[in-house]
Amino acid sequence: MRYGILSDIHSNIEALDAVLACLNNERVDRLLCAGDLVGYGADPHLCLKRLRDNRVDAVCGNHDRAAAGQLSLDWFNPHARAAVEWTAGRLIPEEKEYLVQLPLVWKDDRVTVVHGTLEEPEQFHYVLDAAPARRCISLQETSLAFIGHTHVPGFFVQEDGQVRFLRSSRLEVGGRAKVLVNVGSVGQSRDGDPRAAYCLVNTDTQTVEIRRVAYPVEKTQAKIRAAGLPEFLAARLALGY
Ligand code: ZN
Repeated sequence: MRYGILSDIHSNIEALDAVLACLNNERVDRLLCAGDLVGYGADPHLCLKRLRDNRVDAVCGNHDRAAAGQLSLDWFNPHARAAVEWTAGRLIPEEKEYLVQLPLVWKDDRVTVVHGTLEEPEQFHYVLDAAPARRCISLQETSLAFIGHTHVPGFFVQEDGQVRFLRSSRLEVGGRAKVLVNVGSVGQSRDGDPRAAYCLVNTDTQTVEIRRVAYPVEKTQAKIRAAGLPEFLAARLALGY
């Protein structure tokens, strides 16, 4: 079984289209999304349409909940809050209903997908280091689980009783009982590499790859500026932070 897993698209249609073009060449059986479909970028309608047209099974992120009016804006920093308010003012009721009905956790017998962590998924805690990663892994019922939220891709693995974060692009799962994968962000990278990130999983060969693809950042930036969204949200895309 081959999965393509995306996260944190954040209304960036140029990045999403670049990733979907790559995944269309990979003959994946299933496309999944770890949340934050909207927020930050200027193309919420197009991104939601593209995800639905490609039958992507998504979970709900904190930006999705907030843009649909289901999460307090007190949680957000000023830039994020401005983007949530901008998005909420443009989504049509049917799009908000779609976001609201997304599950917090998606699971089959091979993989689990959640936006923040499996510990109180409705609270959208961040997995930034070993302690929350260990708690998430302890709640994981499948050998592989996939998260987003921090926009920093990599693998949390258990070795000699410790949980370590590996910033590599490929992992042979091999005999490991459980691995927690942060798939990174399609639409707003924060690891210093401005390219879009996505994840390719082959459960037959037990390999997980985090791939990157360039997209026309200047075009996305111009749309953000033209929309009147905060300048910081445009500038950061070129830097990948
Ligand atoms: Zn996000």
